[in-house]
Amino acid sequence: MKQILDAILADAPADELAALPIPESYRAAFVRREESGMFEGMESWEKDPSQSIHIDEVPLPELAPDEALVAVMASSINFNTVWTSIFEPLPTFGFLDRLGKESVWGKRHALDHHIIGSDGSGVVLRTGSGVRNWKVGDKVAIHCNHVDDQDPTSHGDSMMGSNQRIWGFETNFGGLADLTVVKANQLMPKPAHLTWEESAVNALCASTSYRMLVSDNASAMKQGDVVLIWGATGGLGGYAVQLVLNGGGIPVGVVSSPEKAALLNRMGCEAVIDRKAEGYQFWSDPHTQDETEWRRFGKQIRSLVGEDPDIVFEHPGRQTMGASVFAAKKGGTIVTCAATSGYMIEYDNRHLWMKLKSIVSSHFANYQEAWAMNRLIDKGMIQPILSDVYKLDDVADATKQVHHNLHEGKLGILCLSPEEGLGIDDPEKRARIGEDKIQMFRS
Ligand code: NAP
Repeated sequence: MKQILDAILADAPADELAALPIPESYRAAFVRREESGMFEGMESWEKDPSQSIHIDEVPLPELAPDEALVAVMASSINFNTVWTSIFEPLPTFGFLDRLGKESVWGKRHALDHHIIGSDGSGVVLRTGSGVRNWKVGDKVAIHCNHVDDQDPTSHGDSMMGSNQRIWGFETNFGGLADLTVVKANQLMPKPAHLTWEESAVNALCASTSYRMLVSDNASAMKQGDVVLIWGATGGLGGYAVQLVLNGGGIPVGVVSSPEKAALLNRMGCEAVIDRKAEGYQFWSDPHTQDETEWRRFGKQIRSLVGEDPDIVFEHPGRQTMGASVFAAKKGGTIVTCAATSGYMIEYDNRHLWMKLKSIVSSHFANYQEAWAMNRLIDKGMIQPILSDVYKLDDVADATKQVHHNLHEGKLGILCLSPEEGLGIDDPEKRARIGEDKIQMFRS
């Protein structure tokens, strides 16, 4: 692996990389099937990822004809890293076993260890015999949409594919590792002005936010739309705020500390609600929501921007959905992709139907959406929201930060990359865009 890394750091030509031997095993972060029950009976917050996430050598799988082997320079923590590591809502081995039954190549995934990670940047080391558009030496960012292109259901919108999966969550061989095996159509060009770690944190969250807000497949935001964004400095929210501002919308960002509120202001989001400082309690007890709190929340939004939100960007789920449905304007849209605080949702349906509101679901992004988002990042129109960087050995610590909501934006992970700041191929473009913008979340 050292030879491979040295060649990448020296920007060695493709034929040199292609001549290097590929190791039979590699370092990876994974959870173990036999430990799936280790947290049974514990509350979510008590479950400690450092007990379940292991870093060790794993065998390298054979490469399928439509796949690429990538040397992972950097990766990132996603909330699905948290879900896998605490085995909630289900252990992910069921996903791997189902994939294992689909095909000969799928069978490779059904192992007793699950290599996690759904983001990555790196260099292509090998391609399968059927790969046309990528070659050894290409510098790539990886998106997580794992689709069977022989399945007709995936040919309109690939997210509708009956066996669409999220790489590193519903498939094995994820990105939190020194090597990864991905479908070649998960690869996108790495933005040349960004470091490895800045390039590695975007694809999952940014593409999800793009589909939720920009795509016709979800809320299709228009100029002037007021968009209420929960967790506006979190992984999804940090990109959502930028997309709303770019598209001529008016973001109202909800966060939980003065530091996050100040960060939102620096991003150009003027309307900010600190939900902690305001003391919002949408549930008066575990079974009852408090409509007076919904009204207080709606009133605060109106006091900030003069009207109700056209779109509510939802992902906290049970804790906030009642307030989200109430706060959206007449005819407005609540777009949801998740339920961090609980997936059994309650809202007052009268506010939905009498005010002709819609709840729209969204999930990751199809290839076109992921590429469209990558293009915006490449053009410097959307910035990475990297706030901190950890080493692969410290994946569990980083996962804990996200689990306990102690982070902002995205946490990057150095895999093969020995230090931060490497991988910039176009310093002039970087200077044009500006360090202050690119590193907004680092301050
Ligand atoms: P994140 O980085 O942890 O950010 C989420 C933010 O939401 C937090 O920073 C927090 O911000 C806010 N939040 C958390 N719990 C809340 C609550 N009870 N009430 C109000 N706000 C709350 O996570 P993320 O990457 O944005 O992901 C968020 C969720 O979306 C996760 O469940 C994740 O699994 C899911 N997700 C789904 C997809 C998909 O394709 N379907 C893709 C990406 C993520 P404040 O404390 O500052 O308010």
